[in-house]
Amino acid sequence: TIPVITIDGPAGAGKGTIACMLADKLGWHMLDSGAIYRVAAVAALRRGVNLQDENTLAALIPTLNIEFKEGDAWLDGEKVTSDIRNEICASATSQIAALPAVRAALLTLQRNFRQLPGIVADGRDMGTVVFPDAPHKFYLTASAEIRAERRLKQLSQQELSAKLCDLIQDINARDERDTNRPVAPLKPAADALVIDTSSLDQAEVFATVLHYIA
Ligand code: C5P
Repeated sequence: TIPVITIDGPAGAGKGTIACMLADKLGWHMLDSGAIYRVAAVAALRRGVNLQDENTLAALIPTLNIEFKEGDAWLDGEKVTSDIRNEICASATSQIAALPAVRAALLTLQRNFRQLPGIVADGRDMGTVVFPDAPHKFYLTASAEIRAERRLKQLSQQELSAKLCDLIQDINARDERDTNRPVAPLKPAADALVIDTSSLDQAEVFATVLHYIA
């Protein structure tokens, strides 16, 4: 039989990272079962299926073509990698994941990911329901406080990079206006020493200035 290592636990326990590192190390495939649930939720949202309509949801699932390749998630040939990570999807996912018929419909699909030379499966019920015969099972957990802190860090990193992007646009727009105005445009005087401070700290810039004056 094809070997499986299962890694279960609550959100923010670090399952994904460890599963990924382990799969890399062993040269095995990885099953991110949460991503499967998320893609199913995206399909449900797109088709406007009521998220409590268990039978319709369960009937929809076998008709879906869910794939993971080149680091992306695909639904019926369309890349949905970013769609599965937003908050609307996260909430829809946990709603449909509570329905037994939905879980049953996703069971075969998840088991079909079992392939040589082996898989590392990450989720909530990998060791209990999907791959009960796995020889190695892990359950990662951490206090709610620690997990919330990790979440916050992830969030603030995303927000910071979005902010950074806005700031770059602001700065560029301001430079553009200052440079292109008809009077006193921003530019170095012909006899000015131009110092690019990108890779210099304050002390280095100051030293350059002092050196030039001397
Ligand atoms: O792990 P991830 O955050 O991507 O999972 C999203 C949601 O999918 C979980 O909150 C859970 O409700 C559901 N899920 C599940 N069983 C799994 C994996 C995920 O119920 N094996």
